[in-house]
Formats: sequence, structure tokens, C-alpha cells
Amino acid sequence: MSTKIAILGSTGSIGTQTLDIVRQHPDKLEVYVLTAGNNADLLIRQAIEFQPDSVVIANEAFYEKVREALSTYPIKIFAGATALADIVENENIDVVVSALVGFAGLAPIIRAIKASKRIALANKESLVVAGELITRLVPEYRSVLLPLDSEHSAIFQCLMSNRHCDVSKLILTASGGPFRNYSLEALSRVLPQQALAHPTWNMGAKITIDSATMMNKGFEMIEARWLFDISPDNIEIVVHPESIIHSAVEYCDGVIIAQMGSHDMRMPIQYALSFPNRWNLEAPRLDFSILKQLTFDKPDFQKFPCLSIAYDVIAQGGNKPCVMNAANEVANLAFRQEQISFTRIPEIIEQTLSRVPFQKCNDLSDYISADHEARSIAQSLL
Ligand code: NDP
Repeated sequence: MSTKIAILGSTGSIGTQTLDIVRQHPDKLEVYVLTAGNNADLLIRQAIEFQPDSVVIANEAFYEKVREALSTYPIKIFAGATALADIVENENIDVVVSALVGFAGLAPIIRAIKASKRIALANKESLVVAGELITRLVPEYRSVLLPLDSEHSAIFQCLMSNRHCDVSKLILTASGGPFRNYSLEALSRVLPQQALAHPTWNMGAKITIDSATMMNKGFEMIEARWLFDISPDNIEIVVHPESIIHSAVEYCDGVIIAQMGSHDMRMPIQYALSFPNRWNLEAPRLDFSILKQLTFDKPDFQKFPCLSIAYDVIAQGGNKPCVMNAANEVANLAFRQEQISFTRIPEIIEQTLSRVPFQKCNDLSDYISADHEARSIAQSLL
């Protein structure tokens, strides 16, 4: 019997690559739900190709367009953020692929956990914001959270068949982004189109900018802290520009187990869907005969202050990671829209954090309030 999947964010980079995997394994995977934000045209094309039970377009202005285009097909059409969160509870869905970008991914994930779903998690912002809540709810509702991010998929594989108590540290590799070798002065003048040209990975716009500021690596450190229940002090970030070693685990006897492969996101996406099995994947293979060298370096916390911010907020906990995430979303977009310079991004995050007092967060509504407050402060700082 095939696995029925709901792809939240099917029109994005992760979403479209997930559909590539479905194309390769039509006997194993069945698309049950597709959702999009604004890209109605692509959602319609995907729905016609994959014939899901339902589609959701988050922007209600496109509801009529999608409804009309799919009127001759037996596909249910919904619109709006509430419909998007509601649909994950459908009892026929086996796996929810969470590929929305940003804070918008949090509410559907909480609903999916409470519906005891198996979740393939790409939306790292939800764990950054509410890792404490999510990791409390997953066992309570017998949900399963599988990492889809390449680094976390790598660590997940390196941890297999070993005892958690024997882990001495997680080694999170980072490409270093396009500005690894820039001076601080040069960084203040970079343009969005330079930041959007990532040297190794082809991703959505928001995460590409997060990679350039290294906020993305800060997010991944927090994501690893929650996914693998490990202190941030035992997570080391190592710059590895070739992105061949996707991450590694060091054990108490000094042995390091690393996971390698070509940089193709379909590998970790597929593994989150095939786990505990492995399926064949038509993707470029790593050829050691042409691989000349692998290089490593320390991250530069001065040039990339988002890294220190991430370690600070996870040490503080409460609403702080949520505030950092909200300010980053505002600043990241403002940079893409050429409203602020690249080096203003960490400044806006720091200034927002200093203006929002620490608060404990217990449930989703606490995170929603913290997110609202931080966004409006960050917006006022642009
Ligand atoms: P994209 O921007 O390419 O895609 C985002 C998807 O979410 C799109 O389908 C978009 O719809 C939808 N969306 C955006 N905002 C909303 C909203 N408010 N309501 C409903 N739907 C919305 O992002 P990526 O695929 O690059 O990234 C997705 C997540 O995966 C992020 O959290 C990212 O950090 C993470 N990730 C991505 C990797 C990558 O290689 N891309 C690697 C590892 C993690 P539409 O386009 O129709 O508006």
C-alpha cells in the first residue's frame, strides 16, 4: 500500500523536489494534499498531474481561480490559513511534509502533532521558535518527527545504532555562504542578487539570505538542540565550503561518524519518506576520483553575528528564539526588497531582542503574541 502524503508548501523549493521523488516512486507514494501560498498557477499544474484528494491555496484571493481551473476534476479546493492548518488532521494522511517557510509553518505542525501524524520536517523556523513545545507534544501525542534538513538528516543517520549517552558532540557543517571571504566593510555593500546566488545549494529566497548571513546555521544549531536533545555547548559549527560532508557526530572514544553525498536535497527528503528503508534515487552520485579536496574552517562570529545571536537566545529560552526569528523574517525581507543593507539584518535582530522583555511561552498563543510584538518592533526599526 502506498504512503499518502500531504505536502505543505508544494510550490516551493522543497515542495517541488518532494514531488520529483513522488514521480520516481509512484508505487510507494501518493499525493493526498497539496498546498500553496500565492502560486496558484503552479498549484493547478501540480494538482492536474498528481490528482490529490484536496488542495489548499493560503491566499484566499486565488480561490476562484483554482476552483475554476480544477472544476472538472474530483479535487476538493480550500483556501485560507485556517484551512491549511485544518487539512493536516485528515485521517487518510500518513505523512505531512512540512515545507512552508517561516513562522507560518508553526500552527499546521502543532495541529499535525496533535493528530498523531508522522511529520517530515523542513520548516526549521517552527523548531527554532517553539522547539520546547514541539518536543513536549510529539511523545505526548505519539507523533513522529523526522528531520528533512540535510545536516539533520546526516546527524540522524550518524546517530543510528549508537547510544545517546556516548555522543560527545554534533558537528554541524556549513558552506559559509557566498560571503565567506568578504571583509566586514565589503559585507555592508552586498546586494540582494549577490546574496541570492548561493555557491552550492539552490533554495528558496528566504533561506538563501539566511545562509548568507549564517542565520540559517544558527537556526540549524537550535534545530539540532531540540531534535537530538543535546546542549548547544556540544554542537560545533564547522565551515566546509564543498558541502560534501553534510554533518557528523563525535563519540566519547574520539570516533567521528560523518555522512557524505552530493549536494542534492532530494536525498534527505527521500530518506525522511523512506525511513527506515532506503529507496533507489536517480540523482548525481559522488565521484571520489574527481573530488580533489575537502576543506574546513572555523566560522567567523564577528563577521556573522547571527551565529552568536542564535547561541544567546537558545541559552535564554522562553520567547527569545521566537523574537529572533520574527525580527529575522522582517529584516530578511527588507533586505531582499532593498530597504536595508545586509549588515543591518543582525543589527535589527539585536535591537528587537533588546526591546522585547523575556517571557515564558507555554502554548501556541504565547508564541503568536511574541511573534506579533517582535514583528511590529522590527518593522519600526527599518
Ligand atoms: P520556498 O520559499 O521555496 O517555498 C515556501 C513554500 O511555502 C511555498 O510553497 C510557498 O507558497 C509556501 N508559503 C510561503 N508562505 C506561506 C504562507 N504564509 N502560507 C502558506 N504557504 C506559504 O522555501 P523553501 O522550499 O526553500 O523552504 C521551505 C522550508 O524548508 C524553510 O523553512 C527552509 O528553511 C527549509 N529548508 C529548505 C531547504 C532548501 O533546500 N530549500 C533546505 C533545508 C530546509 P507560494 O510559493 O505558492 O507562495
